[in-house]
Amino acid sequence: MTAPNRIVIFAAGDSDAEWLSNQVSGREESGFAVELVVSYSGQLDDKHLSRADAIVVDSSLGSETTQHLLYELMMRQSSLPIILCIDADQEGEFPDAVRQGAQDFIIKGSDSAEIIQRVFLHALDRAQILRATQEAEERVRAIIENISDGILIVDEADTILFANPACELILNRQLIELLGAPLELEIPKAADATVEIQHTPDSSIVASLRWVPIRWEGRDVRLYTIRDVSVEFEIREQLQKTKDEAERLAALKTSFLANMSHELRMPLASMIGFAQLIEEGIDHEEYKEFAGMIVEGGNKLLETINSILELTRLDAQTVEMRKQLISLENSANEVVNSLRPLLDEKTITVQITVEGIDTITADPLIIRRIFNNLIGNAIKFTKNGSITISFVGTDDAVRCEISDSGIGIDPEFLPHVFDEFAQESTGRGRTHGGTGLGLTITQRLVSALSGSIEVSSKKGRGSTFTLVFPRLASQE
Ligand code: ADP
Repeated sequence: MTAPNRIVIFAAGDSDAEWLSNQVSGREESGFAVELVVSYSGQLDDKHLSRADAIVVDSSLGSETTQHLLYELMMRQSSLPIILCIDADQEGEFPDAVRQGAQDFIIKGSDSAEIIQRVFLHALDRAQILRATQEAEERVRAIIENISDGILIVDEADTILFANPACELILNRQLIELLGAPLELEIPKAADATVEIQHTPDSSIVASLRWVPIRWEGRDVRLYTIRDVSVEFEIREQLQKTKDEAERLAALKTSFLANMSHELRMPLASMIGFAQLIEEGIDHEEYKEFAGMIVEGGNKLLETINSILELTRLDAQTVEMRKQLISLENSANEVVNSLRPLLDEKTITVQITVEGIDTITADPLIIRRIFNNLIGNAIKFTKNGSITISFVGTDDAVRCEISDSGIGIDPEFLPHVFDEFAQESTGRGRTHGGTGLGLTITQRLVSALSGSIEVSSKKGRGSTFTLVFPRLASQE
């Protein structure tokens, strides 16, 4: 059996509590037992309260003391149920006492044990509901007081009925000023909007504001939640600015490219053309030589300009790619043939081997540019010896190795071969011509085809450039 609910009776004397004690005692099945009889003399002791599940205030205390006791119990925010025990002729005083905190009353000498039991049970139930409601309210209050979002309740006349502490920071006003004051905010029509809240004439924050209509103390009001989004707003603004600036620069770059390729190449082409005519048409040996030098220098300059423009186009991703099924062996053969005049100046053998499939879907011009750079370099950096170009194809990719037996690359320079303008021999001691852009462009072209490029080399023994072209990736 569960322990009975303990009743503490406040009465003028023990004899005044006797009737109730008799009604309750010996009726354990009722679930109540008198724990203590306290003769209250104006001082409430917590010890007594801690022993009670319900309190009875006996009318023998007199109405003034009863009022005092009820007031004290209320001040201590005790959630214990309070029952008055009154004489039959005092019934008229009951409503006042209930207003002061008592929950119910029993009439001394007349109420049966069953009625007393029912009164106590109802009072205990009500007290339990009250406690649960108070706890729930405290939980909600703890959340509302500690969240960083501002919460406002505003009536139909825009008067603030409630504001949580976070509103102080967000609205830059003390809570005490806010309550009862008009909501001085531009109220957005939309239920969800971003507003600027002016803190001082020269400082403001950006807040996201949401509102929903709710019922509050029997009235139709609006519940606002306000969040300071100044930081997010600032970041978004900066990102937008950066994006706009990047787009502006990209547009500038594209128009620069279009203009430059025309403005630089056209006059240069005519300079080279006319110098060629002079070289061919003039008999004066020295001037003929000068004209030849103009043609050679002009061609080098044209090559450099073309490389820089190509790199810029690749960076700006303005290169349009065609897709075509091509044989890598055929492309390599065509490039070797086009470079034949350079090969004929030296004693170099070229061998091309194929194992498995050598076809991929890609832009044939890009493949030619890649081979042209790599095979061109192999010829440029090999005096006498051999160049081997091998293709090994699988279902997924074709691996291509371009090896030469030339001068090789210093281990210290090797990690920089793909860097822009990087050349191993520089300054006055330069042994070979070039711009140092060929491999940079090659690497970008290879990655534009979703491929990869690597290099291995031994100084004095030769170099191998290994390319992997995906067959499927480039077919997308
Ligand atoms: P460029 O050949 O116009 O100088 P690249 O970007 O094609 O520019 O090459 C950069 C540098 O890498 C070359 O100057 C050279 O020092 C080195 N290099 C490239 N290919 C070879 C090779 N096959 N053998 C030796 N060195 C090479």
